[in-house]
Amino acid sequence: MCRIIKDIGFKCTLCGKCCTKEFNDHVFLLTEDLKKAKKSYAEQIVPAPYCEICDNNGNFYVSGYALKSKNNGDCIFLENKRCKIYNDRFFICRVYPYMLHRERDENGKVQWRQISGLNEHGEYNTEISDDLCRSTAIETIEYEKKFLEQERDFFRCLQSLFIEKNLRPVRKIYDENMRKFDKGESITVFAFNGESFEKNIISKCDYIS
Ligand code: SF4
Repeated sequence: MCRIIKDIGFKCTLCGKCCTKEFNDHVFLLTEDLKKAKKSYAEQIVPAPYCEICDNNGNFYVSGYALKSKNNGDCIFLENKRCKIYNDRFFICRVYPYMLHRERDENGKVQWRQISGLNEHGEYNTEISDDLCRSTAIETIEYEKKFLEQERDFFRCLQSLFIEKNLRPVRKIYDENMRKFDKGESITVFAFNGESFEKNIISKCDYIS
């Protein structure tokens, strides 16, 4: 990964695109981010969109929380192309646009994507010191590791809950309730906080601040 960072030579030009829906559908919070967000920015978080599962009672489950956005799709903390909480920003905000994201190519083969929005923002082929390449790579890998651990813990917790409560996932109810949600109705989402699920009753308007 160090080598790729060096070869790409990405330099941020402060365009602010990374912090908009145009570039990133949502800002996902790791469990450690969530603790900070609940303490300092509780009004600005929502269960992450795209719930993984809906049970036979119509309740949704998702692996974490995300930041709200503004009406125009900007992150709630973006102002004049600058982050209002820059020194306190979240893990993904520190590593982006670097990433280690699993994606299927056109042949279905899973690859690791290592930078987001290549050639769509910033400058390239700039000189980056070996030390910075190394620390960026370490932080990017650490982010992905924590993200995957959170996903793993979420599915373990979900499995235990479904067994204990005798629940089952139902795709048809998922689709029906999502259609209602898209029309503005409320849904119940159990969001994973790293240890257990928290109940949220939300509608589409809750994603915009
Ligand atoms: S918290 Fe700051 S850095 Fe992170 S997406 Fe929002 S504006 Fe950008």
